Amino acid sequence: MIIAIDGPAGAGKGTLGRRLAQALGFAYLDTGLLYRAVGAKLLAQGIDDPSPDQAADAARSIATGDLTDASALRGEIVGAAASKVAAIPAVRELLFQFQRSFATTPPGGAAGAILDGRDIGTVICPDADLKFYVTATAEVRAKRRFEELQRAGDTRIYREILNDVEDRDRRDSERATAPLRPAEDAIAIDTTEMDAAAVYAVAFELVERLRQRPSAD
Ligand code: C5P
Repeated sequence: MIIAIDGPAGAGKGTLGRRLAQALGFAYLDTGLLYRAVGAKLLAQGIDDPSPDQAADAARSIATGDLTDASALRGEIVGAAASKVAAIPAVRELLFQFQRSFATTPPGGAAGAILDGRDIGTVICPDADLKFYVTATAEVRAKRRFEELQRAGDTRIYREILNDVEDRDRRDSERATAPLRPAEDAIAIDTTEMDAAAVYAVAFELVERLRQRPSAD
């Protein structure tokens, strides 16, 4: 079984994906980490505004080991670099196969895979068994991020974080290649007024319903 979870930054995709994967014993891939690893690699080389060739070289060099230090990749600077390289078609093509293989042959022989990102239901796994499109208003997503940063001792102000969220939404939605948009058959979950437990309960119920349905063959 393949479950696709798409949506903008900070909507709660990762929390939902991880919880579902744990409950179902499925493999989970946060595909944003791939783009973040490419962005981080370029930043480490001192490249802020990469050419398509520079970005493709960085994408080509990404290995699973580059994703293990997820906390080093989670910051806003790396997130902004990721959304720049994510608009480059060659980068997306280079990362396609990794994601596709994860979905169709999940590591560890797991019975299913859950991938979260921006184009899982539309481009990477249009054949997914279940597709969720998780959203929330930009203000609420920025507020969640602000509180998370405050807990980590970061002193950035809310307005600045809201600007970052809006910039990233714009870049992800307006790019020509694989823009952020819901697949036609995606189930939308607006988490603006829901906590993580409520989001999980709604999604889990839908997964269970699907699993209990007799298969077509
Ligand atoms: O999900 P996360 O915020 O970690 O993703 C970082 C950036 O990577 C996003 O802003 C987006 O531009 C890009 N991305 C993408 N396609 C995906 C996952 C992430 O373009 N499937």
